[in-house]
Amino acid sequence: MRATRPWGAGPGRRRTATGGPALPLAELAVLVTATGAGRLEIRTPFDGSVLGTVPRSDIDDVAEAIRRARAAQVAWAARSPRSRAEVMHRFARLVLDRRDSVLDLIQLESGKSRLDALEEVLDASRTAAHYAHAAPDLLRPQRRAGAVPVLTRTLEVRSPKGVVGVISPWNYPFTLAVSDAVPALLAGNGVVLKPDSRTPFAALLGVSLLRAAGLPGDLLQVVVGPGAELGAPIIDGVDHVMFTGSTATGRLVASRCATRLVDVSAELGGKNPLIVLADADLRSAAIGAVRAAFASAGQLCIGVERIYVEQSVHRAFLERFLAVVARMRLGVGLAWDLDMGTLVSARQLERVSDLVADAVARGATVLAGGRPRPDLAPWYYEPTVLADVPDDARLTRTEAFGPVVSVQPVADLDEAVALANASDYGLSASVWTSGRRGEAVARRLEVGTVNVNEAYAAAWASHAAPMGGWKDSGMGRRHGVEGLLKFTESRTIATQRLLPLEPPPGRPGAARAFAAGMTPVIRLLDRFR
Ligand code: NAD
Repeated sequence: MRATRPWGAGPGRRRTATGGPALPLAELAVLVTATGAGRLEIRTPFDGSVLGTVPRSDIDDVAEAIRRARAAQVAWAARSPRSRAEVMHRFARLVLDRRDSVLDLIQLESGKSRLDALEEVLDASRTAAHYAHAAPDLLRPQRRAGAVPVLTRTLEVRSPKGVVGVISPWNYPFTLAVSDAVPALLAGNGVVLKPDSRTPFAALLGVSLLRAAGLPGDLLQVVVGPGAELGAPIIDGVDHVMFTGSTATGRLVASRCATRLVDVSAELGGKNPLIVLADADLRSAAIGAVRAAFASAGQLCIGVERIYVEQSVHRAFLERFLAVVARMRLGVGLAWDLDMGTLVSARQLERVSDLVADAVARGATVLAGGRPRPDLAPWYYEPTVLADVPDDARLTRTEAFGPVVSVQPVADLDEAVALANASDYGLSASVWTSGRRGEAVARRLEVGTVNVNEAYAAAWASHAAPMGGWKDSGMGRRHGVEGLLKFTESRTIATQRLLPLEPPPGRPGAARAFAAGMTPVIRLLDRFR
């Protein structure tokens, strides 16, 4: 593993990588709905220094944000889906036009590499473009078969829910803040967004680009502050909650939503497996496994933490995999030539270090990495490969959410599938094999997305198909039809024509005659359905 010069020295370091103007942090900070004098310091994981400050919202600010979004939503919902989609088409282009400044800010706030930040830019732009194309059709009233053909005309109509609360995490601070807000807005809702307090600037940049694309000012509100304080008033005031974060917090959020009978979509944690079968292209599998395990320094919900390799190719795969890990360029900075950035915080570093120490104390072998690198950045941890992780190690079942992966040989496909499924989580998986066998293997895995001969991005970037978790990895889906329609209430409007569906009251024998006439009609309808 090659280390590069730590980032941080020299003046003008907050200028964009292309030498453009300094990032407009003060302009972004004013987008927060907050009335008090309190401010939060935002530090860059590159060197721990203060990047800027943002106003801190309180409970009253949340109420005000919901009130403003609700007021603005009325006019927005009255616009046609096509007119709302025009805003999102412009946003999709704007994100690409401003690519370099967006990348700089994502990197400075999260500590990730430029390539990892690029995924966020592409995802946000592609999600917006996808839904801008798809939403007008998906939201159009749909004719449905009526109670009695010809006599009953039935329409399914979609209406916005009102105001959607989006609570987003720090690990993909740009795209996870805006990419769920986009379909919620397209569906005609207002949005109150609460990004993680560690990474509000990337979310605010997304909001400023949406406004620059033509989104009405008050429609998308941002509040910033601790989730434990602002989460409850958001949930208590909105009409749908879109939560992305840990399973523990997701449970709290979902149970509070349940008491209000408000829908929640929860995109939660994972302990994702990668399976290498004997017929796989081992070179591609090794490269894919490195990307899967170490993208965003492992702080990726769909990243891989467990690798199972068929015994006959275990040694050959491991050699290739460790060789690619050894070639990784480590460090922080805005240049393109680094493969892995840093963990986001001291808390993340402690969590990862503790899990590795526990596994090693119980008998795991360190094949690569296994230590912090404060010489690269204060919370940096090396890409780490472990073998022989025992079943009683906490790492076996706990999501590390860091650059740590275990590799284990398996006798055959059945054992690989059994181990892959032996988890409380069910978010994502990756399978490496040849021919069309991958799809059959994928169907046996208890997860929401499976990538065949790809690390994680193929399914993620298939925006027309749903994405989400089974088991403790969540409820509801983003992307696909579900990712838009969940932000709507359906309404069925059935108009009866020519003949009534029931006999009139007060006529002797009418009910009996109705039953005698209707029964064969129902039989016929069933046959010709
Ligand atoms: P977290 O649950 O601590 O925080 C996520 C968000 O929830 C933050 O905005 C936080 O302020 C807020 N929050 C905290 N307490 C809250 C409360 N009581 N009520 C309402 N909101 C509250 O998550 P984290 O540990 O910071 O993020 C990492 C986790 O997120 C990992 O488990 C990762 O797998 C998961 N994640 C999942 C996905 C996905 O799409 N499935 C994507 C990214 C991250």
